[in-house]
Amino acid sequence: MKVIEFSKPGIENVQVAERNLEGDGLKIKIVKAGLNPLDYNLIDGKVVYNVNPMPHIPGSEVMGIAMEDGKVIKKGDRVIVYNRIFDNSCDMCYSGNEHLCYNGGIWGVISNGGYSEFIRIGEQNLFKVPESMDDNTAVSVGIGALTSYRALKMANPRINEKILVYGAGNTGIFTVQIAKQMGLDVYVSSRNRNLESSGIKVFDSVPEDFHSDIIINPLGGKIFSDSMKHLKRKGRIVTYGVLTGKIADTDIANIYTNELKIIGSTGGTRKDLSELLDLMQAKHFDLPVYREFSLWDIKEALHAFRDRINGRIVLNL
Ligand SMILES: [Zn+2]
Repeated sequence: MKVIEFSKPGIENVQVAERNLEGDGLKIKIVKAGLNPLDYNLIDGKVVYNVNPMPHIPGSEVMGIAMEDGKVIKKGDRVIVYNRIFDNSCDMCYSGNEHLCYNGGIWGVISNGGYSEFIRIGEQNLFKVPESMDDNTAVSVGIGALTSYRALKMANPRINEKILVYGAGNTGIFTVQIAKQMGLDVYVSSRNRNLESSGIKVFDSVPEDFHSDIIINPLGGKIFSDSMKHLKRKGRIVTYGVLTGKIADTDIANIYTNELKIIGSTGGTRKDLSELLDLMQAKHFDLPVYREFSLWDIKEALHAFRDRINGRIVLNL
């Protein structure tokens, strides 16, 4: 079968290769794959995790069609991959936090991923796509939507609370849509004004006197410390990324005198994914696709990813 692989980091080293299908679990024919910051950084050599094995097949977000019957999944089902590998035998797994498994990691990072014609993967990592969901939305659930959904859940939101979302990229757009469905009063900080068309207030720079119950800020760095000034008393700020830098200065007195909470979130659990699929089946979600490419034109897609304005890049087989 055809796969995308690289032997050492760098976009110039990515190539189409022939491989045998390996591993255990159900055989899945890949239909679409997402191209996320994770995939881009992995290929570009900027991922902090250990990439294994080498040569490596990247791709951590895919949707496809089951080629054989499993216990729950049946031949012909459209499926997405829950992309955390876990052992089901550590404290984290026992407590329903398999995304934090001590012996686990991200599928496509600590294992070969899904940029290939077929994969084999266990049913514990497969979810059926709801009938009403189109393929492009389905392929965006495993990383983009799941990350957004868990980050929101971690803030324990109550109806009508104000929420300020930093960034209107992949996860930002999902965060805004899920937050609206949760009944929150949504504001966005971004130079990109595309969300204004859906009735969202978008700030170029957040006014000094604007305060929010919840802030979602995956941007890191100075933007993270600046955003802390916009939390109300008892406010919660959630981070799941460090796009502009890992280190932030923080006014600790501001944290304790106002009883603020800084919350970390990463990916999501299978329970989160199951809840999210229910929510997305019941409500309308609209995620702009910036461009679509053939998977075999991955280099072109990687260049487009670097230059994209907003919306997702989807790879088709
Ligand atoms: Zn575990």
